[in-house]
Amino acid sequence: MSLFHTMRALTFTAHGGPEQLVVRDDVPKPSVHATDGVRVRIHAAALNRLDLWVLQGIPGSKVKPGWALGSDGAGIVESVGSAVTSVKVGDRVIINPGVVDRQCRCEYCRDGDQPLCLTYGVLGEHFPGTIADYVVVPEANVRTIPDWLPWDVAAAFPLATLTAWRMIVTRARVRAG
Ligand SMILES: [Zn+2]
Repeated sequence: MSLFHTMRALTFTAHGGPEQLVVRDDVPKPSVHATDGVRVRIHAAALNRLDLWVLQGIPGSKVKPGWALGSDGAGIVESVGSAVTSVKVGDRVIINPGVVDRQCRCEYCRDGDQPLCLTYGVLGEHFPGTIADYVVVPEANVRTIPDWLPWDVAAAFPLATLTAWRMIVTRARVRAG
């Protein structure tokens, strides 16, 4: 396979512990199929407890060895689908790892509880992960970041912060006072 169709990614050879981790350079480079798809060239990826759970094997998970791990990442937009308007090639972006079908009108999505929707999934667990040269996500899952924000700081932000935000703001409804 040509160098242009493959990429590096942190994968695992079998479920287990960190000794199963292996960096491969023959992982297929993801294509932008959807008109709202964005391909990001990853500059930094961060680790989460979830990576160890996926590595160990989550009951019911369809993840197979060779899967790219990682939920958090930041990088540069390298390719966009025809309908993408909020970012352009060359933009620095942060990635929200929680992917959901934005057209879904189920009761959870209508109530703003997208993490409960059947179409919801997380990069690295339900979709190929961010510890790779490239990842493709819907346009809704990227936001531009300022030039002064370091890659590693941006990459460390999303999953843990969004989990805490959902617990404190969405669920517990903590407000000023
Ligand atoms: Zn839904």
